[in-house]
Amino acid sequence: MSVILIHSDRFVEHQTPPGHPERSERAEVMDVVAGKWLKRGTEIVAPPAATREQLARVHDTEYLRQIAETNGRATQLDPDTYTSPESYEVALLAAGATVDAVERVMGDSHRAVLALVRPPGHHAERHRAMGFCLFNNIAIGAAHARARGARKVAIVDYDVHHGNGTQHSFDADPHVLYISTHQYPYYPGTGGAEEIGRGPGEGFTVNVPIEVGAVDEDYQAVFGQVVVPVLRQFEPDLLMISAGFDAHERDPLAGMRLTTGAFAAMTAELRTVAEECCRGRIVAVTEGGYDLHALAASLYAVVESLNAPSAPAQWPTSGIASTRGRDAVEACRHPLARFWTLG
Ligand SMILES: [Zn+2]
Repeated sequence: MSVILIHSDRFVEHQTPPGHPERSERAEVMDVVAGKWLKRGTEIVAPPAATREQLARVHDTEYLRQIAETNGRATQLDPDTYTSPESYEVALLAAGATVDAVERVMGDSHRAVLALVRPPGHHAERHRAMGFCLFNNIAIGAAHARARGARKVAIVDYDVHHGNGTQHSFDADPHVLYISTHQYPYYPGTGGAEEIGRGPGEGFTVNVPIEVGAVDEDYQAVFGQVVVPVLRQFEPDLLMISAGFDAHERDPLAGMRLTTGAFAAMTAELRTVAEECCRGRIVAVTEGGYDLHALAASLYAVVESLNAPSAPAQWPTSGIASTRGRDAVEACRHPLARFWTLG
């Protein structure tokens, strides 16, 4: 059984300066998608706020104090990251939703959970807000899973941007595998193939930088030859997904060309691995996605893939000739050769 966790509509007040891509319509899109699934019998629950202890596994004390101080105020934390008076409270719910999702899946009450949250989290660093992100929701969720007994957690981040904050949260930790596919070079600048983790965590950061313009077949190659083989060898106890939808062809910020069907296919690939490794335990957490139609359709497709019986991924075909996927796989081979066998 799947469950969607959703915010109250107070989210609409989060970080919405005029002209900013984070407009309130985004929350409405999430409400519409959640409403459709509710009608189809999917369970939807309101999230609890994250506790200080849960946040402090990822963020430092001074940073938590700084963010708490934005409560009730409109502030600008970095060139892209604003708060409204309610952002702090909503960010606590976004992190809390992810922790709750992990609780449910690790407690075996649910097999797959989608935390439908804003603000996103994967750019947030231990001590710094960045790229619309205040708390690193997925890192907080993964740290919670570890604290409650998961030996190995894998995070797959297919948001079009590299998740610098998530990578840095675990780059010395061999128990949390971070795999990111992203447009490169691009914001935030990190995520080169040679970034593979450090110390005991070496090899447990897997970056697949992909040239702008990649299509469905490119991502199919990257999933088939890097993402899935590495996950199978790692054998996680929990699989988490940073589900950003900004690699969609309609997205106004980035330059990838994925169709909606590719998001369903990526989810299906990951579900198959989760069935093999960890009794199907999957927690997906929303990240970016700036075209409202693409966001709605892709979210819907992901929930459909999580709900349906596990089946082989059906990758769409764009018919566009591109070597970007093959080039990305080749760029990973040398840095990862000591750690993983690629396809
Ligand atoms: Zn993004």
